[in-house]
Amino acid sequence: MSATKLQEIGQILRAHQRFAILSHLRPDGDALGSQLALALSLQALGKEVRVWNEDGMLEKYSFLPRAELLTKPLPNPEDFDVAIALDTAIQNRLGTALAAIRSSKIWINIDHHLSNPGYGDVVYVDSSAPATAEIIFRLIKDEGLPFNRDIAENLYAAISTDTGSFQYPKTSAHTFEIAAELIRTGLDVGRLSQQLYESYPRRRLELLRELLRSMRFQQEGHVASFSLTLKTAAELGVIPEDNEGLIDHLRAVRGVIVAVFFEELADGKVRVSMRSKTNAVDVCAICQKFGGGGHTLAAGARVRGTLSEVEERVLGEVCDRIASSKTTPASVT
Ligand code: AMP
Ligand code: MN
Ligand code: MN
Repeated sequence: MSATKLQEIGQILRAHQRFAILSHLRPDGDALGSQLALALSLQALGKEVRVWNEDGMLEKYSFLPRAELLTKPLPNPEDFDVAIALDTAIQNRLGTALAAIRSSKIWINIDHHLSNPGYGDVVYVDSSAPATAEIIFRLIKDEGLPFNRDIAENLYAAISTDTGSFQYPKTSAHTFEIAAELIRTGLDVGRLSQQLYESYPRRRLELLRELLRSMRFQQEGHVASFSLTLKTAAELGVIPEDNEGLIDHLRAVRGVIVAVFFEELADGKVRVSMRSKTNAVDVCAICQKFGGGGHTLAAGARVRGTLSEVEERVLGEVCDRIASSKTTPASVT
């Protein structure tokens, strides 16, 4: 992505007054941290900013600096100069936040998903970035926008979560350079890591126990999956954010190439979450077959059908892909 595109975005940000900053429903740390970081920078420039997500701020990210800025959208749609979608591969994944924009003179789309089709008037999609927050950092630095420790903490939380704590393959020397610059603002890495990774509610572990009971291995152990029924979710009192990251337990097993998590939803669909350990098996391509998208190694979809129907269809496709790829467990682990 070109520097001139960032300059164009920088000029638009400076030239307008009313902004809406949005991200995808069922948000993760990258979505929320990127939104807050950009919002704080724009506020420091004297701009009016709405920071909306269909799900509002999640309990587990409510420690982020100025988290209170991020809310569910207002019921009555509003008019904006600029609406900015962050970390959102498909525009309709903005959900009710999209419906809350009655009009916007300019739509900006900043993202790192390979499958992003490039909706909007000004598009900056860099699929080599391990997190949208890396692009926000670049924008702030290159365009000389306001930067401070609160912004740095939000960006650090976003990058740390989207890279699996600086582990996933897109984590680069540049990512560590950015992290170093963020830490130099005086942020406390130990405290942030504890807030991010050692502050889960007990029910998250109870959920993991139930998921492990349904764990299944196929294709000589190359495909691992588990599922969550509505009944179990209700019994445990889990909320959607509880399952973020649990799929990593499946991926962490030797020999597993693809991990899949199925979650029964109340609307007659099943949320599918998929991870791959090798570029030779592109889970984004698999999820796109089911109407979803994402990245080569981490993707998802929402598929209509019962839990068992969707499991059968999706796992059948995954097993076919593994069988036809030349991947061996040795090349993975
Ligand atoms: P998740 O498994 O929910 O953590 O999602 C993994 C990646 O796939 C994320 O980057 C998501 O943005 C993307 N993704 C998940 N679900 C969908 C979907 N229904 N449509 C498009 N992209 C998705
Ligand atoms: Mn995200
Ligand atoms: Mn992201």
